[in-house]
Amino acid sequence: MECREIVLDRLADESFDLLVIGGGITGAGVALDAVSRGMRVALLERSDYASGTSSRSTKLVHGGVRYLAQRDITLVREALAERQILLTLAPHLVQPQPFVLPIYRGQHVPGFMAPSVATRALTAAGLTAYDLLAGRRRLQGRRSLSPLGARGLVPSLRSEGLRGAFLYYDARTDDVRLVLAVLGAAVARGAAVANYVEVMGFEYQGGRIAGVQACDRLGRRALQIRAARVVSATGAWSQQVSALDGRPGRSLRLSKGVHLVIDRESLPLGPIAVVLPATADGRLAFAVPWGNHVLIGTTDTPYEGDPAAVVPEPADVDALLGDANRFLDLNLGRADIISAFAGLRPLIASDATSTATTSREHAVSVAPSGLISVSGGKLTTYRRMARDAVDAALRAKPGPWGESCTEGVLLQGAADLARRRREVQQMAATLGLSVPIVSHLLNTYGADASDITAIVAEAADLGRPIVAGLPYVRAEVPYAVRREGAQSLDDILRRRTRLSLETRDGGAAAATDVSELLAAEFGWDEARRSREVAAYRERALQSLAAWSDTSTLLQFGPRPYSQ
Ligand code: FAD
Repeated sequence: MECREIVLDRLADESFDLLVIGGGITGAGVALDAVSRGMRVALLERSDYASGTSSRSTKLVHGGVRYLAQRDITLVREALAERQILLTLAPHLVQPQPFVLPIYRGQHVPGFMAPSVATRALTAAGLTAYDLLAGRRRLQGRRSLSPLGARGLVPSLRSEGLRGAFLYYDARTDDVRLVLAVLGAAVARGAAVANYVEVMGFEYQGGRIAGVQACDRLGRRALQIRAARVVSATGAWSQQVSALDGRPGRSLRLSKGVHLVIDRESLPLGPIAVVLPATADGRLAFAVPWGNHVLIGTTDTPYEGDPAAVVPEPADVDALLGDANRFLDLNLGRADIISAFAGLRPLIASDATSTATTSREHAVSVAPSGLISVSGGKLTTYRRMARDAVDAALRAKPGPWGESCTEGVLLQGAADLARRRREVQQMAATLGLSVPIVSHLLNTYGADASDITAIVAEAADLGRPIVAGLPYVRAEVPYAVRREGAQSLDDILRRRTRLSLETRDGGAAAATDVSELLAAEFGWDEARRSREVAAYRERALQSLAAWSDTSTLLQFGPRPYSQ
C-alpha cells in the first residue's frame, strides 16, 4: 500500500469517480470492482481494515449446507460458484477443506430432514443437492462413512449412537488476509485506500451526493473528498451512515455470532472439520481446524447494542462448549479455551422468526441523494455484492465504464505463484526458516512471501518467531507497516497476525517485542512505546474479562502484566 501521508494528500487533492465507505470485505470488493473497470477510486475505513465483521467469521468460503435448511437455493448456488472462483483467484488463501458430518440415532440435521425423519438417506440427498448446485464447479464429491470410518477420520467423535457420517468438501480462508489481498489488488490498480479515516458527513450539489466530509483519526485532520458516486459498505454500521445522509436506510437485523479458539492438543481434529449437527437451539455449528488451533462456532442471537461493543459473554461460551461436548468425546471445559471472539452479521430484516433463519442474501439500495448502500451477504459472496453495488452506482449515475471483470482479477499474492513459491522455499532454506514458518508465509502472502524473506535476509533476527511455537516471524511487523497499512499494536496482534486469539493472554506478552519493532518503524520514543504496550495489555485483559469466569482470569489474567 502507498504511504499513508501520500494517500491523504491524494484524497484531499484528487476527484474520484467512486468512493467506498468501509474497509471490510464488501468495501474492499467494491473498490477492486470499480478500479478494475477503470474508475478512479477511493476507500475510507474508520478503524483498521477488516476490523468489523470481516475479522470475526468462521473463515469458510462455502455454499453453506445450513442455508439448504432455509431452502435458500439461489444463495447456495451463488456462493458455491463464488467458492470456485475464489479458489482460482487466490489459491494461496482459499483452500479446499474436508468436513465430516456425523449422523446420530434420533438426531435430525437441520436443513436435511424433519426432526421425525432420522435417516441417512435424507442427509445424503441434501449433500447430493449441494454437489449438484455446485454444478461443474464442484470440489471432490461427498462420501458415505461407516461409524468406524467416521471415527477413523475423527477419533474424538462421540461413538454412542453414531450411525455413520458423510465426508464432503467446502473451502476455508483467513478472512482478514482475504480483505487485505482484495485491497492490495485494488491499490495495485491505483485505488487510494486509507484506514483510520472516518466519514462524518456528505457533500451535496443540487441535492445529490458529490463527496464526503471525513476525519483522519490519527492526525485529526479534516478532509473534504470529491467523489461522483459514494457506496456505503459499512455492514453493521450502515444505518448510522445512512443517517448522516438524513435517512434511516435499509432495516437491518444484527445477529451476534461467537467463536471459541481451542488448542489442537485439547481437540485433535487433524485436517478435518466437523459439523456439529444440531446444537441445543437447533442450529448447525462447526469445529474447524485453524492453524495450531480449532475454531468452534458459531452462536446466532439477536443483538441490539453498539456494533463496536460486541463481545463474547459467559453464556455464549457455555453454549458452544455444550455444542462441542454433545458430539465429541472430550469433555471440553474453560481451561481448554485459548480465546473467544464475537462478530455481527448484518442481516437484511425480514419476517423470519429468528436471526438463524434470516436469509444471508445481500441487497443494494439507492437513496434519493444517490448514496448507494450494500448490505447483508457473506464473506464468500463479496465479489457479487461488489459487482451489484458498482452496477447500481453506474445506473444511478452513468459513466463510460464497462461491466465487472473481477472474475479474472487475481488477488494480491496470486500472480506467478508456482514459480515464486519455489524461490521462497529456496531462500527460506538458505535462511534456515522452519517448514511450518515457510508454509505459513506462503499460505498467508502467496508470491509476496518473498518480500518477507528479503527482510529476513537483511536482518536474521527478524526471522525469529514472535511467539515460540507459532509461525509468525518478526519480519512480518515491518512488512505490515510498510505494505499493509498497520498503524498500531492492535493492527499487528489482532489482524496482521492473530496472536491476540492464538495466545491465552491475548497477545499481551508479545506486545513488548512487537512494540519495539513498531517503534523502529514509526520513530516512537520510549514513553510512547510504553503507553502503547500498557494500553494494549489493558484491552487484552478486558477482552478476556468479558467471557471468562474468575478462575480463568486468576489463571491467565495476571500474565499480561508479568514481563
Ligand atoms: P464489515 O466487515 O463489518 O465492514 C464494515 C466496515 O465499515 C467496518 O470495518 C467499519 O469500521 C467501517 N465503517 C463503519 N462506519 C464507517 C464510517 N463512518 N467511515 C468509514 N468506515 C466506516 N461469511 C462467510 O462467507 N463464511 C463464513 O464462514 C462466515 N462466518 C461468519 C461468522 C460470524 C460469526 C459472522 C458474524 C459472520 C460470518 N460470515 C461468514 C459473514 C461475513 O463475515 C460478513 O458477511 C462480512 O464479513 C461482512 O463484511 P462487510 O464488509 O459487509 O462488513
